Amino acid sequence: MAIRRIPVLDGHNDTLTHIREGRGGDEERTFLGRSEHGHIDLPRAREGGLGAGFFAIFSPSPGYERVVRPMVGPDGAEVPGGYTVELPPRLDRRKALSWTLSILSDLFRLEAEAEGALEVVRTADDLRRCLAEGTLGAIVHIEGAEAIDTRLEALDVLHEAGLRSVGLVWSRPNAFAHGVPFDFPRDPDTGPGLTAAGKRLVQACNRLGIVVDLSHLNERGFWDVAAISEAPLVASHSGMHALCASPRNLTDRQLDAVASSGGIVGVNFHVGFLRSDGNPEAPTPLTEIVRHVRYAVDRMGVAHVGLGSDFDGATMPGDLQDVTGLPRLLDALFEAGFGERDVRKIAHENWERVLAATWRR
Ligand SMILES: [Zn+2]
Repeated sequence: MAIRRIPVLDGHNDTLTHIREGRGGDEERTFLGRSEHGHIDLPRAREGGLGAGFFAIFSPSPGYERVVRPMVGPDGAEVPGGYTVELPPRLDRRKALSWTLSILSDLFRLEAEAEGALEVVRTADDLRRCLAEGTLGAIVHIEGAEAIDTRLEALDVLHEAGLRSVGLVWSRPNAFAHGVPFDFPRDPDTGPGLTAAGKRLVQACNRLGIVVDLSHLNERGFWDVAAISEAPLVASHSGMHALCASPRNLTDRQLDAVASSGGIVGVNFHVGFLRSDGNPEAPTPLTEIVRHVRYAVDRMGVAHVGLGSDFDGATMPGDLQDVTGLPRLLDALFEAGFGERDVRKIAHENWERVLAATWRR
């Protein structure tokens, strides 16, 4: 393919949490050196053309073990191929805040050690410059608002420190909202909408210029945000429910709401959110991502579609492997008939537009 080096602005990675937890069996894994473990480090990000990304801070639930059980239907019989996953209980706010500050500190230390190769992005101008110069831009995102108190004092402080995106929930419930479980197949209408504090949080994010991320939120919460928020709607790492009936994916009506708000959906690369059978373990080609991109473009228009890999937090298609596979994904988009203008929009321009409109600086 003649067209090369289109930078990717990626809607979601769990790399900072992954490294701090020493997941993937590599205690020695760092961000600045190349590793065989995990999906992103600086050398591999450069090789793959990752221009910028949302670096999620995710506070783990201590002692939580993910238990997957067969799904049982209303008739008491097992649903073929179906499964249900128990979610952890609410997380203590102080623990979440302490963890969040540790991860943020990790990022600032990496920024200092990287000597200009990594920059925490705070404005649309920062982002443009990073993409143009080849500096890896890190957008600070918290996945689940557990670290934030209902008086929203921590929000002010974290915003000053560089926070630019808040996922109201990871899937477990918190003081602001309820998330979707990882069951399959299931509708995303799984519980109540935002709490009163959740509504105040959305308004505060609008006022401060912080993205409100709808990925992991249940459907009633989604419609509450759609009714309140003045910013374009954003789902940073989700798929298409019509193609894969995971509650982590968006229904057609939700996609329509994102499009009419001028917002964006970052298509998730997780195998279990891509495949029609929801099987997170079966061998899967990266053309499954292209299938979701195609559906999203047909439904919403190309201006509302981006990428949201979930690198270091999910199972990747075998031929994508890690961040070095991004050029193969862009090639697959070209091969599927997308032109260069559309691929640039999907790769980074749509995200840039939405972030500039939301951050307002
Ligand atoms: Zn996630």
